[in-house]
Amino acid sequence: MSDIYGEILLDHYRLPRNKGRLEHPTLSVEGVNPLCGDELTLDLEFDGQRLKDIRFSGKGCAISVASASMLTEALKGKTVEEIERWIGVFREFIRTGRAPDGVELGDLLALEGISKLPVRVKCATLPWSALEEAISRYRG
Ligand code: ZN
Repeated sequence: MSDIYGEILLDHYRLPRNKGRLEHPTLSVEGVNPLCGDELTLDLEFDGQRLKDIRFSGKGCAISVASASMLTEALKGKTVEEIERWIGVFREFIRTGRAPDGVELGDLLALEGISKLPVRVKCATLPWSALEEAISRYRG
């Protein structure tokens, strides 16, 4: 992992964005990664088809916390359809280490080295799997 990406990761770990609980979440989902001991909860507040607010709480390693922090920053304000697209993009990115053509990943690019560290893939995808569950419940 290059230094600059390491720094972005550490920044999100030390100063997580959107950390805490929402007072009136539309729904909350939990994710656990027993391999590493990561536990996190996502609170989501929807306004119709738009994700009005999102926060995460819990404890985990630097990669799971940074991934959750980046997720909330990237997806707050997005629509359900946009979020579903992002989940697909993220899964492809974390598997291949490359952003799909024409997609600006922003800080999420800091996770590009994770594809080469199979034991850490679950840490990085934990918040995204929880998000996917949340979206399917919201749609359900
Ligand atoms: Zn972890």
